[in-house]
Amino acid sequence: MAGNYEKLIDPFGRQIEDLRISVTDRCNFRCTYCMPEEGMKWLDRSAVMSFEEIEQLARIFVERYGVKGIRLTGGEPTVRAHLPVLVEMLSKLQGPDGPVDLSMTTNGATMRLLAPKLKAAGLKRVNISLDTLEREKFFQMTRRDELDNVLDGIKAAQEAGFAPVKINAVIERGTNDNEIVDLATFGREQNVEMRFIEFMPLEADGHWMTETVVGQDEIVEKISAVYPIEVMSARGAAPADRFRYLDGGLHGADGPGSRIGIIPTVTKPFCGDCDRVRLTAEGDFRTCLFATQEFGLLEALRSGESEDQLATRIEAAVGTKWAGHQINQVNFTRPTKSMSQLGG
Ligand code: SAM
Ligand code: SF4
Repeated sequence: MAGNYEKLIDPFGRQIEDLRISVTDRCNFRCTYCMPEEGMKWLDRSAVMSFEEIEQLARIFVERYGVKGIRLTGGEPTVRAHLPVLVEMLSKLQGPDGPVDLSMTTNGATMRLLAPKLKAAGLKRVNISLDTLEREKFFQMTRRDELDNVLDGIKAAQEAGFAPVKINAVIERGTNDNEIVDLATFGREQNVEMRFIEFMPLEADGHWMTETVVGQDEIVEKISAVYPIEVMSARGAAPADRFRYLDGGLHGADGPGSRIGIIPTVTKPFCGDCDRVRLTAEGDFRTCLFATQEFGLLEALRSGESEDQLATRIEAAVGTKWAGHQINQVNFTRPTKSMSQLGG
């Protein structure tokens, strides 16, 4: 089966196997590391990809190029009306290993309502963002008083049968770095896999500085001082370095609560193994989160281009994927868009 697929390979020999699709630029939160408090300019609804357009483009990636995974993101994907309908459409796409591995990253606030519907529609996995366990700080970081709903959303995702549920926590110095161990404890107790994310320079208000980044080594040091951990097998193309608790956690050594992941984009970039590309909500194709160039796939689709013509555009764009981002270099140029507009 795998032989029938063309390979999408970039100039550095990396095969593209993972597509992130932003289904909206809108969000019901205003996280300080992502969006401004006010003044976001939303896309016109007509500029955002329809479900049919998303499916048409996704089909090229999965059924022509053998892309194995699609992650729905945003903005906040759950604010897009009728999301389960899109999930059902995409879950039917067939890649080299069978149905595409369909996942979603969400802030979790409405998962109590949506989790069963998304599961029934064919969503396989969810990552839910949770940066703090303190209500005041949650409000400070997201500008919304939604901690209880997010905690309940995590439970709802587990009850709906999503396994493993992974929790994303962006760690920012001076804000929530004092909660690294508490978040690890939460993961162990609730049997969810905590993923600690280094703060990246993709926030809207430009407050990122090298000093605000809490690096992987420090996160490992803090956790292992309380719960000894060891490195798991090689990361491969996945963005997270993974570690397991030596005591096996509280719910069995194979459970999600027995391990953690760290996404060290800034201090230990994993660009050499990156197999990801992205489609923004307005259907622009990006070959790196930090890319400064976009390729208008939706525009081409709406102008009536054939699948072959779109495929030629995709191949040309992948041909521009660079070796890696330059965050730690003096010549680093920030993308003009912030995380919520890129499909993080
Ligand atoms: N709204 C959803 C959510 O927050 O989970 C999905 C979109 S959000 C842009 C995707 C992920 O990017 C979230 O886990 C969020 O915490 C993370 N993120 C946002 N801004 C970031 C930044 N400046 N640095 C690192 N991670 C960031
Ligand atoms: Fe919204 Fe997610 Fe950005 Fe927070 S990180 S503002 S929840 S898109």
